[in-house]
Amino acid sequence: MIDLKNLTIEKAHEALQKGEFTCKELAEAYLKIIAERNKEINAYLEIYDDVLSQAEEAQKKFTDGTATTLTGIPFAIKDNILIKGHTVSAGSKILENYKAVYDATVIKDLKKVGAVLLGRTNMDEFAMGSSTQTSAFGVTHNPIDSSRVPGGSSGGSAAALAGDMALAALGTETCGSVREPAAFCGLVGLKPTYGAVSRQGIIAMGNSLDQVSPFGKCVRDTEIIFNLLSKYDKEDSTSVPDELRKLKAKSNKLKAARIGVPWHLFKEGVDAEVEENFKQSLEKLKNAGYEIIDIELPYSKYSLAAYYIIMPAEVSTNLSRFDGIRYGLSEPGDNLMEVYMRSRGKGFGKEARRRILLGAYVLSHGYYDAYYNKAIKVREKIREEIMHAFEKVDYILTPTAPILPFKIGEKLDNPVAMYLCDIFSAPANLAGVPSIALPSGFSSTGLPFSIQFMAPHFREDMLFNIGKKFEEIKENRIML
Ligand code: GLN
Repeated sequence: MIDLKNLTIEKAHEALQKGEFTCKELAEAYLKIIAERNKEINAYLEIYDDVLSQAEEAQKKFTDGTATTLTGIPFAIKDNILIKGHTVSAGSKILENYKAVYDATVIKDLKKVGAVLLGRTNMDEFAMGSSTQTSAFGVTHNPIDSSRVPGGSSGGSAAALAGDMALAALGTETCGSVREPAAFCGLVGLKPTYGAVSRQGIIAMGNSLDQVSPFGKCVRDTEIIFNLLSKYDKEDSTSVPDELRKLKAKSNKLKAARIGVPWHLFKEGVDAEVEENFKQSLEKLKNAGYEIIDIELPYSKYSLAAYYIIMPAEVSTNLSRFDGIRYGLSEPGDNLMEVYMRSRGKGFGKEARRRILLGAYVLSHGYYDAYYNKAIKVREKIREEIMHAFEKVDYILTPTAPILPFKIGEKLDNPVAMYLCDIFSAPANLAGVPSIALPSGFSSTGLPFSIQFMAPHFREDMLFNIGKKFEEIKENRIML
């Protein structure tokens, strides 16, 4: 029996190398748990039928000496990342039967090193949501407490990893969609610098914000995945060339010991328990020698307001391609307009429609300047003030989410309450800086707490560094 609970990528790699178990045995162990648990949790929408042959292929790399750390490692993949020949639905009826015609760059990279792709995971429709409840294919349950949500939108990937139904997982972030589910499921979640990881082959939500983001059971796992995926991709026009990455990273010569806390962002809506845990975490960091500094980010309090204008604008544009003609669901009609209306009417869920409407409105003639252009200016201010803050501090620290995982069914009728889950996530996405969510203990009712660090552009290395220190300060990793 493989001890899946305590397995990490490095431990699995060592065991595979020593021959303690084979890639196939490892894949079989996960398939067994999936068979037992997925019905209840609904983390996966589909398990691929070639998992064992992928594992056998991976094993050959151990025989011929070309195995690397991720060879044979079983991954869960969010259902908005294209895998050639497989359905990719983005959690939406409109793409229910759509099959990808090419591999996303991140998938090519994983395949190259012989990672084993177990299946595609549930998500909020087109990644719109914070609880995986807007999926057209049912809600996903949190493996820590199945009456609660796993967070979202990458809730299926988080639940798969936290429920020992995968050893690693990919999600995507537009605004917190990996960090928040990581927080709710007791995992580490890394949102890389915008432009660090290729977006080629990802179903776009908000192009100027989207970023493929790894989940791990520990900081080192996210680091291993990030190191593989982070590189220039000429297929993605927003991918940052290598020379520029180095320049950006070098421009910050830091002692990496000062942590800035924007206390003024903690207003209404932050759970008392979450704030208490945050203060305790701060205390631990202080005792470990970090200097804690109060900082002001006056524009960042408008992050959510700006995000909920910029994102729907990009959503309404991106989703216009799903019209019943080129992709996915197509309903017959007497004329072209009827085909559009019926296909889109049947294919999109409530949240997707809400955002298409909002986006079309903020981009419309007469409102463009009042909303979209203003939000773009606010975004620039937020970016500037965060870059400015990094002249005084090395990290910015907040809780990851303002609340603990909530009950399934909660907040569904109140979109604004749902949007508030992103209050601490939005600044990093808008500014394009990297951010890592780290488990920081458990509530009296056994629910996970999480804190998140932000660092300057292309300083993921700093996040891994402080993340590992924080893991040492208190053994906060959770194994279910
Ligand atoms: N909660 C965010 C939203 O609903 C999640 C977006 C994301 O990161 N995909 O927009």
